[in-house]
Amino acid sequence: MTEITSGATGATKTKRVAVVTGASSGIGEATARRLADLGFDVVVGARRAERLRALAEEIGGRWSPLDVTDAASVDRFCADIGACSVLVNNAGGAFGLDRIEAADEEEWRAMYDVNVLGTLRMTKRLLPLLEASGDGHVVTVGSIAGYEPYTGGAGYNAAKFAERAFSRVLRMELLGHPVRVSEIDPGMVETEFSRVRFHGDEQRAKALYRGMTPLSAQDVADCIAFVVTRPAHVNIDTLVVLARDQCGATTVHRRATEGS
Ligand code: NAP
Repeated sequence: MTEITSGATGATKTKRVAVVTGASSGIGEATARRLADLGFDVVVGARRAERLRALAEEIGGRWSPLDVTDAASVDRFCADIGACSVLVNNAGGAFGLDRIEAADEEEWRAMYDVNVLGTLRMTKRLLPLLEASGDGHVVTVGSIAGYEPYTGGAGYNAAKFAERAFSRVLRMELLGHPVRVSEIDPGMVETEFSRVRFHGDEQRAKALYRGMTPLSAQDVADCIAFVVTRPAHVNIDTLVVLARDQCGATTVHRRATEGS
């Protein structure tokens, strides 16, 4: 764990450790930057090692490759952490937008694995460290898709509904323990999310944000920063954040754009 010297007295103060999963892009990357700015010792994980290395160098954090769908990878990642006050369960995403009649079982399994089981694996593994910190915090990035089902969304909806159930149960089970449990549930955020969902189809991903202003990854990182910097007795249970142009999973205001 990093020791920093603070104040004119030269007293040493231990930085609080924050682990951010899925930090190689989007919300996770922005959150890692934001938490580092706030003085956390940030540990970032994801599968794309080169991106993590560059980010960790930039923010003065630590990194290690992490695949949350692989229990051995989660074990290796967590083994070196040492201490942990904040866990941001952010790794996740959607694969495909097929109606149920055409659902791809592999995509459903993959969504459940990364969003739900990934969150379970990381939380279960780090819970003893979070508790030992005396002021632990599990923050899980859910989605408006965990509140409102939409056509073609069933696989992702099911995963995000499950992630919300996970957070609610964890909150109950940790009542009386020094660990807070929060969920951040964003609407449309312009990241790599849609590119991944549409299997690399840039045009289709771009079209989703046509004529509207989505949230940025930084907007969501700001919410996470707010939640983890409340006093220890304050637990923000759920925080739903949408762009002004969006008022439901599929209710979006779009302005006319050139050529439309
Ligand atoms: P993103 O830019 O695609 O980021 C997803 C991150 O998750 C990447 O860093 C990716 O890194 C990581 N990841 C994926 N599979 C992983 C695995 N098996 N193990 C470890 N890391 C993994 O999308 P984002 O929008 O920032 O998504 C972050 C979270 O926000 C997700 O949980 C998503 O469901 C949620 N969310 C997004 C939106 C939106 O509109 N963008 C809205 C609501 C909720 P690697 O590929 O390098 O592993």
